[in-house]
Amino acid sequence: MAGEPQDDCLFCKIVAGHIPATIVRETDTTIAFQDINPQAPTHILVIPRLHHRDIATLAAAAPSVAADVLREAGEVAAQEKLESYRVVFNTGSGAGQTVWHAHAHVLGGRGLQWPPG
Ligand code: 5GP
Ligand code: ZN
Repeated sequence: MAGEPQDDCLFCKIVAGHIPATIVRETDTTIAFQDINPQAPTHILVIPRLHHRDIATLAAAAPSVAADVLREAGEVAAQEKLESYRVVFNTGSGAGQTVWHAHAHVLGGRGLQWPPG
């Protein structure tokens, strides 16, 4: 069921504590942890504890939790003392999404090109 933990979902396993992650912040509704394959000096993922396949689906089903993800992305940036940073939601395989549990990438610590590739 939408929102329920999925046995085959990597990020649900991190939420459950079954796969280790370097957690940098936690709230009742979100977890933020270091990306295993960082694309910038700071690369942290913010995920909802609820399982939804992408940010749009999360926002439709649980808008307050989607707002929590956005707020936590800002809190992570502040905690990491990032003056400039980027929050990215890759949505769909053509945009690079590989994990089908909504997540924000918080990237910073280097210059970031615009437009992105
Ligand atoms: P996506 O490609 O779906 O936008 O982002 C998924 C992200 O999850 C990637 O940046 C990838 O490096 C990260 N990732 C994949 N597996 C793991 C893992 O086991 N642990 C952590 N911490 N990050 C992971
Ligand atoms: Zn999940």
